[in-house]
Amino acid sequence: MASTTPIEWTDATWNPVTGCTKITRGCDFCYAERFSERFRGVPGHPFENGFDLKLRPERLAQPLSWRQPRRIFVNSMSDLFHKEVPRPFIDSVFDTMEAADWHTYQVLTKRSSLMVRYLRGRYGAGKAPPHIWLGVSVEDAKNAVRVKHLKTAAASVKFVSFEPLLATVGKIDLKGIDWAIVGGESGPGARPMAEEWAIGAIEQPWGGGTRKPRDQDVIRLKLS
Ligand code: SF4
Repeated sequence: MASTTPIEWTDATWNPVTGCTKITRGCDFCYAERFSERFRGVPGHPFENGFDLKLRPERLAQPLSWRQPRRIFVNSMSDLFHKEVPRPFIDSVFDTMEAADWHTYQVLTKRSSLMVRYLRGRYGAGKAPPHIWLGVSVEDAKNAVRVKHLKTAAASVKFVSFEPLLATVGKIDLKGIDWAIVGGESGPGARPMAEEWAIGAIEQPWGGGTRKPRDQDVIRLKLS
């Protein structure tokens, strides 16, 4: 776990799973892959196996040892709802988040339908508690369906990350979504973000802000 992070919308990262596989064009220049693959083959390095999916049970209890409340991005180096992460392991991650309830957790996924199914199984007719935020990434209109999934999720706090924003997201009803993050792509080969895409993403029916975004700019918006 990293006690600090350059990510602007969180305080810390916690990675009980690392590694992933690409499922969408928002993954093309995945930072986690780029970082992990630098160390493939380095004996003894935590990323000796590069970006291959790896469960890290030894990290499951880490947030319990952080006494100071933090906003924690869960699995910045993976996707918790990847199909190869066994359900009992996801249960253990949620067990920790529920026990260490002085933190705020930000669980962000591109596997929105699997997240919805998991939450339904865990919470039934109830909801994840408000200190566990559930969110989806949306990079273009094609993948805006993830917002529809999120709206049905058994979550008390819901957020959308329009980052990296690669095209217009079209018209999306963001009612019921609590937070949005908007940002361009960064790193080698980064694709530019058109200003109108970002403005379009934040001028949805809930009437978000009008600040002009730039490439690689991250905007955090509290929607409700
Ligand atoms: S889902 Fe996230 S972690 Fe996985 S490859 Fe795509 S961008 Fe990377």
